Amino acid sequence: MEAIVTKFGGSSLANAQGFVQAADIVKADPRRRYVVVSAPGKADDKDHKITDMLLMCYQLASHRLGFEDVFAIIAGRYRDIHRTLGLKQDLEADLTHVEMRIRAGASRDYCASRGEYLCARLMAEYLDVPFVDSSELIVFGTDGRMDEAATYEAIRVGLQDVEYAVIPGFYGADTEGNVVTFARGGSDITGAVIARGMRASLYENWTDVSGFLMADPHIVKDPRPIHSITFRELRELSYMGAQVLQEDAIFPVREAGIPIHIRNTHRPEDPGTLIVPEQTERKGTIVTGIAGKKDFRVINVEKTRLREEGDFLRKLISVFESNEVPIENMPSCIDSVSVIVAQADISGKERKILEEIRIYCAPDSLVSMPSIALIAVVGQGMIHETGSAARVFRALGEGQVNIRLISQGSSELNILIGVDNQDFEQAIRAIYQAFVQEGTP
Ligand code: ASP
Repeated sequence: MEAIVTKFGGSSLANAQGFVQAADIVKADPRRRYVVVSAPGKADDKDHKITDMLLMCYQLASHRLGFEDVFAIIAGRYRDIHRTLGLKQDLEADLTHVEMRIRAGASRDYCASRGEYLCARLMAEYLDVPFVDSSELIVFGTDGRMDEAATYEAIRVGLQDVEYAVIPGFYGADTEGNVVTFARGGSDITGAVIARGMRASLYENWTDVSGFLMADPHIVKDPRPIHSITFRELRELSYMGAQVLQEDAIFPVREAGIPIHIRNTHRPEDPGTLIVPEQTERKGTIVTGIAGKKDFRVINVEKTRLREEGDFLRKLISVFESNEVPIENMPSCIDSVSVIVAQADISGKERKILEEIRIYCAPDSLVSMPSIALIAVVGQGMIHETGSAARVFRALGEGQVNIRLISQGSSELNILIGVDNQDFEQAIRAIYQAFVQEGTP
């Protein structure tokens, strides 16, 4: 039977009302067979995420300080959901067990994971489907990373006869049964891994926004939603800072060709954003999205006939490598190369790096430029459309934005533009307007 994996984020499950909304969504489509949940998030601005409070309990307990007050807030949140939904399971026994384990010195990962565990237990009863613990499905190796082969085998065995289930996100266990968590936001990864393991037709990720927007709404007023985007386009955009989904959640489903649908739990009528392996027909604009980040440094290295020196580039790159500074981009001309790195990565190391370039590469000139912002204009539609780059540059010219750098990926999927930090917002607005004019599709 066809299966959809449906994951709800913490903001969707912050209180009993969230549970009701989520359950309505699950029940509306019988293909929603595997439900993955995060721990309850913030119900309002003054609230705290359950995971943050559990980590606080762990910190306090590990310093032999009382954590009861914080734990009482956590327990109160679950009791409220349990009471409001009229659930029958013995929540008190679960809470007492967790509290006891924290007091007895349970690991950080165990403490952090209990938010998802308790949430899934309640949701399973509310939906009246089995609870399946992730510690039996997601297997971690001794290196702290998920063991793919063992995990997919455990999912196959563990869920093969389970038609419907609620599964806690965020954690699994090592071969000795110790709980191990993914990075923060890792329930997205659990959902993706279950989707892949069960060969789901779709991975739904329900959150508190109606998918991705074409640009940052803090910069562009009411940007258009993106209804459909390819995995490759999303990589280009998320790499530039447009975070909605835990990045590692993309790989398992992308490899298996399973689309991800980002939806809004509070507005289920909104179409959301569908992330697809390939775009079959393109509706909407040529550009899918525009994203960027400030504070990059550009190091310009000039040397006449540098290309004739076979190992010039290798030597240059190895200076950054040995100083553990990742290179963001490297546009080049006939006799010069620019190395772009994030300011945060090079801070405190710049002098040493410049010195080493002087020694190993013997450049004719070496200049470190003031910081710039990088903007990625991303869209598969640009491949088929002549004049997209011209449109970007005209818009920037008319917007009085000085372009400091241009680089177009060979896939023609994106154009990367460097501008002065202070021109960042204006540049994004100008590009957005050039592609999304009133009334155009
Ligand atoms: N609850 C965990 C966190 O707050 C994991 C998740 O929500 O995805 O990071």
